[in-house]
Amino acid sequence: MLTEEARQELERQQYRIVGSHSAVKTCGWTKNMLRGQGGCYKLKFYGIMSHQCLQMTTSISCANRCTFCWRGYKAPVAKEWKWGVDEPQTILDGSVTAHKKLLTGFGGNDKVLQQLYKQAQQVKHVALSLTGEPIIYPRINELLKLFDEQGISTFLVTNAQYPEQIRDLSPVTQLYISLDAPNKELLKKVDVPLFSDYWERLNESLEHLARKRQRTCIRLTAVKGLNMVEPEKYAELIRKGGPDFIEVKAYMFVGASRQRLSAENMPLHEEVVAFAKEILEHLPDYDLVAEHIPSRVVMIAKKEYRKKEKTRDKDGKETVEERWHTWIDFPKYQELALAGKGFGSEDYLKPTPPSSVGISGNGTPTREEAVARKQEREARLAKMREQRNGKTAIVAAEDVEEAELD
Ligand code: SF4
Repeated sequence: MLTEEARQELERQQYRIVGSHSAVKTCGWTKNMLRGQGGCYKLKFYGIMSHQCLQMTTSISCANRCTFCWRGYKAPVAKEWKWGVDEPQTILDGSVTAHKKLLTGFGGNDKVLQQLYKQAQQVKHVALSLTGEPIIYPRINELLKLFDEQGISTFLVTNAQYPEQIRDLSPVTQLYISLDAPNKELLKKVDVPLFSDYWERLNESLEHLARKRQRTCIRLTAVKGLNMVEPEKYAELIRKGGPDFIEVKAYMFVGASRQRLSAENMPLHEEVVAFAKEILEHLPDYDLVAEHIPSRVVMIAKKEYRKKEKTRDKDGKETVEERWHTWIDFPKYQELALAGKGFGSEDYLKPTPPSSVGISGNGTPTREEAVARKQEREARLAKMREQRNGKTAIVAAEDVEEAELD
């Protein structure tokens, strides 16, 4: 699949190639979490422990050449699978080994919370997204089963160019479809697809997404000056897919995308919030739930994820309050997935911690503000280490802090 030149280029960028078509790279948020600098937005929104997350793909090749992607144009593209097929067990073992090897340097590093480093040795989540198109690996369902057996939750992102594979996919903990434009012409410009029927493929993929019983999410990468238009058309496509969640996330000026776009294409957090609200005006069944300013992303959920809960105060007086339930009960998911009976998103949710909910009204911090926050956080961490004498570090939603500007 890879030319020697492309392989070397990927290795230089800290990717590790596993077998002949898979790859692993340590996520920046995994590193941040280990350093006590806060987890990723999926920790805040869904309860993913970023330091126990394996970021990988089962196919480095892709059928798009998205303008905003950090991949270079040397990365392989193809419409169909035309390579050898590695064994699912080999991919799983090889990926976990490569991931742990990449983390080795964190052990014994005094900037790293050693309790977290110890926990990181046990992978609990896999993000099948990194680069390329993971869903086209012909034995993806066998691999998903292996992840379930290992107690590893699965988040899989697809670019919506393979509707049949979406239809035939076994349950995943959360399935993502990328929606990069509100109309056919713009999708061609933004995603530069190889398929000539790319628009039909996207629409068919959304129809299959709507039939999934487990959690689904549609992700919009907002590129200022390019695709932050026609909110009503985005809403129409979203209604077709009927996802449980919608993420509107700013394009980040990184990697090879810098050759195609400029820093001005990166919307500010407040612009992302405003655009998400415009889309929401056309989606009465959804509400804005949470934000993660460092990633410039907001999460929208179906209103049915806000549930009534009974609580009693110390005098036994009962009150009913509404709470969002966007977090995942991971052990429950594994139990259900392995039982082999039908189940749906309702069966493995749990309450979102109050500290994770809400839109602050704050915008993207200036460089100076970000630096000041970083210093403040480092001082707090040093104090925490001192107090705990390096023994423990509690990982809880309340510990989620915002990392520095991406
Ligand atoms: S869920 Fe995504 S962003 Fe979060 S740690 Fe895993 S790979 Fe990184």
